[in-house]
Amino acid sequence: MNFTITPDLIYRRAEAPETPVDMLVIAAHPDDAELACGGVIAQMTHEGKRVAIVECTQGEMGSRGTPALRREEARKAAEILNLTERWNLHIPDGAIDAAPENVAKIVAALRYFRPNILLFPPEFERHHDHENAHRLVRTAYFQSGLSKFSVEVFGQKPATYRPKRLFTYMQTYEFEPNFYVDVSAHFETKLQSYYAHASQVYVPGAAQNLNEPQTLISSPEFLEYLKARARHFGGKIGVQYAEGFTSVEPLGLRSLSDML
Ligand SMILES: [Zn+2]
Repeated sequence: MNFTITPDLIYRRAEAPETPVDMLVIAAHPDDAELACGGVIAQMTHEGKRVAIVECTQGEMGSRGTPALRREEARKAAEILNLTERWNLHIPDGAIDAAPENVAKIVAALRYFRPNILLFPPEFERHHDHENAHRLVRTAYFQSGLSKFSVEVFGQKPATYRPKRLFTYMQTYEFEPNFYVDVSAHFETKLQSYYAHASQVYVPGAAQNLNEPQTLISSPEFLEYLKARARHFGGKIGVQYAEGFTSVEPLGLRSLSDML
């Protein structure tokens, strides 16, 4: 199969592409990555690591905002998180599936960014787009290693590639994570990137748009919940704030001394 993919390039930090990246985050909707794992993204870029976000849909089925507004919000959040690059794949919102064209879009991202770590939605979720994005990424992960699956992106045909680590982040439904990451020092940056999606979320101190329908995440209570979960996870590992993740494949240590 041969595909030519033209991603919507929302943000690129430098004039020339900075690839490979250390970590790629794939999300169904424009604000999902910030909400689920903005802490580890901010932490990694603070450490000088390269991180990119690719979202599948423009969120056009959302009750609030427009695709153009949401695109601008995603660009602002990319700046706040100091991403190397951010793409939108323009898969129809509410209709993510593993059709060959969609698989090719994710394969293009995997081969172009060549991340060691891949973060993506969990298998069991409230929103069907999240579950379907999980399945789509798993399919693309495998296909990305097959040389007969040919994908051209930005005029090049990057070589086959599979990321080393497949970790799922947490969205609405809770699960027992395999591991937690201390994001205390970067929690404020996560919140700022989350507030960048102002058409979608409650932003303390900002004028609220009451003409638009209220949603789960547009309420002050949801922000409290987001903070409370991170605080709860932090408490489990003796820090202020943490995010939890599950590894698709078993995790091993090189040596027990890694735990010293
Ligand atoms: Zn979502």
